[in-house]
Amino acid sequence: MIAQDFNYSTPATIEEALGLISGGEAKLLAGGMSLIPLMKLRLAAPGHVVDLSRVAGLSGISEAGGAIRVGAMMTHYEVESSALVRARCTLLAETAAMIGDVQVRNRGTMGGAVAHADPSADYPAALQALEARVTIAGAAGTRVVSVDEFFVDTFTTGLEPGEIITGIEVPVEPEGTGVSYQKMLQPASGFAIVGVAVRIRKEGGVISFARVGVTGLGSRAYRAAGVEERLAGTAGSASDIANAAAVIADGIDANSDIHASAAYRAQMARVFGARAIQAAVNRAA
Ligand SMILES: Cc1cc2nc3c(=O)[nH]c(=O)nc-3n(C[C@H](O)[C@H](O)[C@H](O)COP(=O)(O)OP(=O)(O)OC[C@H]3O[C@@H](n4cnc5c(N)ncnc54)[C@H](O)[C@@H]3O)c2cc1C
Repeated sequence: MIAQDFNYSTPATIEEALGLISGGEAKLLAGGMSLIPLMKLRLAAPGHVVDLSRVAGLSGISEAGGAIRVGAMMTHYEVESSALVRARCTLLAETAAMIGDVQVRNRGTMGGAVAHADPSADYPAALQALEARVTIAGAAGTRVVSVDEFFVDTFTTGLEPGEIITGIEVPVEPEGTGVSYQKMLQPASGFAIVGVAVRIRKEGGVISFARVGVTGLGSRAYRAAGVEERLAGTAGSASDIANAAAVIADGIDANSDIHASAAYRAQMARVFGARAIQAAVNRAA
């Protein structure tokens, strides 16, 4: 299948890229792992494609002020193999390593995955658990939004027309944080039928901090606040974990498709949620 004809630009700066997309007709291209198939199937037919691969300022991974900034054009492989991310934000590195296959991880970018907002994508669960922030450039300047605000619905984000994601910020994990990302994957693609990311800290033998992000179950990735509340103040025993994981799907209108019914997905969220919490508890100092 062949995409319809389109103009192609390779800007060198963010300002130049913003100028090219200001009319609303152009589509940004990052790794092309989602956009190119959509264009070949003619589900997307942009008249102008603006390739971000040569734009300065969208790459690099750095640490400042207790946060790690990942440039939007960093590939999943660059995230998973970054010594900084592996040492300072293990949850993000481990999640990146579980995306698709080697080819997808070598081409697909973090900014592209976040912008695409696939309800079964892996990063959104980790980014919810990490309370990450998305940095966005537009004609009016730069703004920073929380991922909870950013992920609006299926394939829908808070990105306005004419805006570009420049990077994603995640917090540095304090010593002793226990993390885990566990997913039930769709074997052909690797996408999450359900995926649960957990970040836990313990003080004096009890859980003092818990963050739980869920992908694949609902129309967008979300924080499972009920699970977090049930975990807080407990020792994280098997029964504490089962009691907390039991509410992971509460209030969520679960997705249903050829891979899994809504009821099965909800049950798998409870199972994989309990596994992720257990693994994080085991790793928490
Ligand atoms: C076979 C296969 C298996 C996969 N398996 C998984 C999986 O297991 N888990 C998973 O999470 N994902 C999976 N993916 C998706 C993969 O992670 C893609 O890399 C990702 O969804 C899109 O990233 P990209 O860089 O390729 O973006 P592109 O395809 O280039 O762009 C995607 C969308 O984002 C927009 N965009 C891109 N960059 C920006 C930016 N900086 N600012 C604003 N908008 C932007 C584009 O305009 C487009 O609308 C899979 C994909 C394939 C093809």
